[in-house]
Amino acid sequence: MKPETFPVADRLLAWYDRHRRDLPWRSAPGEPADPYRVWLSEIMLQQTTVPAAAPYFCAFTERWPRVEDLAAASLDEVLVAWAGLGYYARARNLHKCARAVAEAHGGRFPDTESGLLDLPGVGAYTAAAVAAIAFDRPATVVDGNVERVVARLFAVEEPLPAVKPKLRALAATLTPRRRPGDYAQAMMDLGSGVCTPRRPKCMLCPLAEACAARAAGVADALPRKVAKADKPTRRGVAYWLTNPEGAVLLRRRAEDGLLGGMTEVPSTAWAEGAPPPESRWRGAAPAAAAWRPLPGIVRHTFSHFHLELGVVVARAGADWAAADGFWVPLDRLGDQALPSVMRKVVRHALAHV
Ligand code: SF4
Repeated sequence: MKPETFPVADRLLAWYDRHRRDLPWRSAPGEPADPYRVWLSEIMLQQTTVPAAAPYFCAFTERWPRVEDLAAASLDEVLVAWAGLGYYARARNLHKCARAVAEAHGGRFPDTESGLLDLPGVGAYTAAAVAAIAFDRPATVVDGNVERVVARLFAVEEPLPAVKPKLRALAATLTPRRRPGDYAQAMMDLGSGVCTPRRPKCMLCPLAEACAARAAGVADALPRKVAKADKPTRRGVAYWLTNPEGAVLLRRRAEDGLLGGMTEVPSTAWAEGAPPPESRWRGAAPAAAAWRPLPGIVRHTFSHFHLELGVVVARAGADWAAADGFWVPLDRLGDQALPSVMRKVVRHALAHV
C-alpha cells in the first residue's frame, strides 16, 4: 500500500500510545502540555541529544520553574547553567525569549505558529513544534528524524539538503488534524528509536506496510546526502596564568560571535594553518612572564571547524594586575560560564601543572 492511501497518522498514534518515550518534558497522557517546558526542551534539543539535554532541562526547571523565573534571572546565571550544552547563542536567545514572553505577553506563550515565530530565537522548526505539542495546532514539525522517516516512506531519492522543501511538503500531507501534538512526538519517537539512521527496525515499524523504501530494499541508504566538505582545522595557544593566591586569569568573550558572552582562558586568535610560532604567541601573551608550553594538545570540534589549542603556563608576580580579564580561584571555576572547549583547557592545565 502507498503512504498516500495508508492511515499513517492513525497507525502512528496507536503505536505511540503503547510505546511513547517517557521524557522529562513530556506531560502524562491526557494531561495538557506546559508551553514553557515544551519550548525549553525544544531549544535545548536543537543540536543536542536527548540524554545530553535531559539533565540540563531538569536543572533549569527546578531552578526556574516558570518562564517568569527564567526571565528574572541574569544572563550570566543562564550562561553558567547552560555551560557545556554548546551553541551558546541559543542560551542568550533563550533568555531574551523568556523576557519577551514575561514582559510582552504576560508570561503566556503565543499559541500560534506565527505568534511564536515572532519570539527571539524561535525559528520555523521550534514554532511548529511548540504550536503542535503545547497547543495541539496541526503544524507540520520537520526535524532530521522526520525528514528521514518521510524520505523512506516515500522512497525519495534526491539528496539533502536540496530536497528539504519536498520532504516538508510530503510531511505536511501526513499531518493530521486530530492529536497533532501527539503525532509530532510520535514521528520524533519513531525516527529516534525505530527508523534509525542505520539499520532501521522495520520489523517493529507501524508504517512498514506503506514504506516504499522498505519495499525497494533501500531504507538504509535514505535519505541520501550530498557529501560535506571536510572541516578546516584552526590552531592557537591558550594562556594558563595563575597568581600567588592560586587564582587563574580568565576573560569574557565579546557578546557577538562564537561563544559570545562566555568565559574563556585567554588565548591567541584561532587561525587555520600551522600553530602560531613561539615569537607570535609570546608577543600576544596577557603578561610578560616565564611562559612554559605544556605537553599535548587540546582538541575540540565546533559545527564548522576543528580546533587544536596548545596550552602555555606561567605564574604572575604579586604586583601584576589583570588589565584584560579577572582572577578566579580554582575552586570557583564551576561558577563560571566556561564552554566545553574551555573546560577541556582547564582539565588539561590542571592535569599538567
Ligand atoms: Fe523507517 Fe523501516 Fe518504518 Fe520504513 S519501514 S519508515 S524504513 S522503520
